[in-house]
Amino acid sequence: MALIQLRGLTKLYRMGDSIVRALDGVDLSVDSGEFVAITGPSGSGKSTMMHVLGCLDRPTAGEYVLNGQRVSDLSDRELAIIRNRYIGFVFQTFNLINRTTALENVSVPLFYARQANTRAAALEALERVGLRHRAGHRPSELSGGERQRVAIARAIVNSPVFLLADEPTGNLDSRTGEQIMQVFHALNAQGVTIVLVTHEPDIALQARRIVQMRDGKIVADRPAEEFVRSGEIPRPATASHVLLAPDSPLAAAMPNGDRSPTYDALPPRMMPGANTALGCGVFAIVAVLASMCIGMLVPRPTPDQLAVAAKPPTSLSVMVLATAIAMLLGIISGVVAIFWAKGVMRRIRTEPGNWLGRGRARAGGLLGWLVVGFPVLSVAYGIVSRMLAARG
Ligand code: ADP
Ligand code: MG
Repeated sequence: MALIQLRGLTKLYRMGDSIVRALDGVDLSVDSGEFVAITGPSGSGKSTMMHVLGCLDRPTAGEYVLNGQRVSDLSDRELAIIRNRYIGFVFQTFNLINRTTALENVSVPLFYARQANTRAAALEALERVGLRHRAGHRPSELSGGERQRVAIARAIVNSPVFLLADEPTGNLDSRTGEQIMQVFHALNAQGVTIVLVTHEPDIALQARRIVQMRDGKIVADRPAEEFVRSGEIPRPATASHVLLAPDSPLAAAMPNGDRSPTYDALPPRMMPGANTALGCGVFAIVAVLASMCIGMLVPRPTPDQLAVAAKPPTSLSVMVLATAIAMLLGIISGVVAIFWAKGVMRRIRTEPGNWLGRGRARAGGLLGWLVVGFPVLSVAYGIVSRMLAARG
C-alpha cells in the first residue's frame, strides 16, 4: 500500500477577481522508503504540493490518503497530531528560532508532542546530523549548512515516517548542499521516505524518481536515469558531487563511467582525530615499554652494598625517577588515547560521510587499554599472589 496517495488533487487561490490553479488535478503515489524529487519552474505549484502533503494546508478538491487515512476526514486537531508524529518539514530558509539554542530548536516538536525527556531525544537527533557538539549554540553562531542540519534534526526528532524538504539546498553553496544531501541519503537508507523539491538538476538526479510539474500539473514522473537517457536533464559535467545509491542505474551513466561515485563510495576521508588517537596509543605503549626497560637496567644493590652506602648513588635515583616519569606519561597518554578513540568512533558512526580511520581509532584505544590495564592487572596479581602466599 502506498504511503502517500493523491487523486485529482486541486488547490485554488483567489487573487482578487481571478483564481489561480496552484494545483490542478494531481495524481501521485509514493511508496514507503522512496526518495522522490519534485522539479519544475517557479510558480508550477511545488510549494503548494508540499504544504498539502505536509498537512499544513487543505486541498480545495481531490483526495489525499496518507498511510491509509483520508486526510480530508480529519479534524484540525487530528491533522496537528499527524503532522507532529508522522511528518518532518525542512524549509529553504531553515525557519529556526534565533533567540534559543540548537538544542531548544530541535526540542520544539517534542514539546508539542508533550514528551517528557526532550533533552535526550533532541541530543540524539542532533547527533544524527553530526551536530551534537553545537547543541548549545544559537542559530546566529552557526554556518548556513549547520543551521539547515539543525532544521533537519528538528524535522526528524519525532522519528517521522516521511520528510518533506522544499529547496533545502537553495540557500547554500554546493559544497554545503552536498553535506545536506548526505544527511538525506543517510536518513533514506534508514528507511525514512523523502520528498524533496529542487530546481537544481544535480540534486534532483540523486533521487531515484523525479516528478516534474508545470502549471499545477504533473507533466513527467519517471526514474531519474530515464531523464538523463532522454536528455531532458543534462548529464552532469562532473559526477563527483552527485551522490547516488550504490545500486542506482544512473551510476553507470555518469561521466566517469564505472568509477562513478555512489553514496557509499564517496571519496573516503580520514576522520580528524583518528591519527591522534593512534599516536597517543603508540606513544603510551612505547613510554611504558621504555619505563620497563630502564627499570630492568637499574642495578639491584645487594644487601651488603645497601648496608655500606648511606644513600643510593645519584645515577641510580635518576634512573628510578626516569622509570617513574616514563610510566606516568605512558599511562596519561593511554587514558587520552582511550577517550580520543571513543570520540572518533562516535563521530564516524553519526556524522554522515564515507569515513576512514575506524582501524586507527580502534588500535589507539586498544593500546590505551593495554597500557592502563597492564599496571592495574600486575598490581592486582601482586596483591592476590601475596594473599595466597600468606595463607598457604
Ligand atoms: P512553486 O513553489 O513551484 O514556485 P507555488 O506552489 O509557490 O509554486 O505557487 C503556485 C502558484 O500558486 C503560483 O502562481 C503562486 O503565485 C500561487 N500561490 C501560491 N500561494 C499562494 C497564496 N497563498 N495566495 C495566492 N496565490 C498563491
Ligand atoms: Mg516554491
